[in-house]
Amino acid sequence: MAERLVAWAATTATVYALLLAVYVASCIFVEGSSRRLAAAKLQPRAAPPALIRRDIRQSILSLAAIAAMFATGQWLYARFGWGLAPLRGVLGGAASFALSMVVFDTWFYWLHRLIHTRPFYARVHRWHHLSVTPVAWSNNSDRLIDDLFLQSYWLVAHFLVPAGPAVLLAHKLYDQITGVVGHSGYEHGGLWCRPPSPLVGVTHHDQHHRYFRCNYATHFTWWDRLMGTLHRDHDAELRRNLAATAAAKRAGQ
Ligand SMILES: [Zn+2]
Ligand SMILES: [Zn+2]
Repeated sequence: MAERLVAWAATTATVYALLLAVYVASCIFVEGSSRRLAAAKLQPRAAPPALIRRDIRQSILSLAAIAAMFATGQWLYARFGWGLAPLRGVLGGAASFALSMVVFDTWFYWLHRLIHTRPFYARVHRWHHLSVTPVAWSNNSDRLIDDLFLQSYWLVAHFLVPAGPAVLLAHKLYDQITGVVGHSGYEHGGLWCRPPSPLVGVTHHDQHHRYFRCNYATHFTWWDRLMGTLHRDHDAELRRNLAATAAAKRAGQ
């Protein structure tokens, strides 16, 4: 029993160290590359420094909870084989990565809509929305109960997607980095998110922080389009923001 506990704690500590390192490194990198885009900042107001400090403190806590859920899923899979057998080979890996993105996006969209409803919002999700002008560091500023809704996917992912541990880890790191970029306040997206591409740019989640009742998904715009929750100005604003970023880059050369 003690030996199992130690193995679980070691897995959790490793995942936490990795997520924390990727969070800090991507925040520093994204803030650095945002500096030359000052003219293309998405919102005119600046985030209050006290709120940024709050977001950093809470992200450090919240990442520990996410690491514990991710590591528990991995540990149960490695130790007891709890979960679906992975698709094999390079093609199988790519297919299970894509599948995990679609399943997580669906998980995130519907649970995110749920925690925006009256019975849940104040207790679960309001904390994250106190940052109306998010910065990269705001990405994981969630109460622990919020993580139980949106991030518990990583605890049960092996039961939902036939993916190996390396594929799920790669997806989690992708989610960690795109989440940081998505809160940065600058449209870092490129051709890959220009409509009709279904991938989100930064504008998508920035609008969610500005307007609250729209843009609930995390990787793709499919669910928001299908359910009529995409902000009506999303595509037009995204195109404007992409053009503004390109102009700021040209001016800075
Ligand atoms: Zn929200
Ligand atoms: Zn957010």
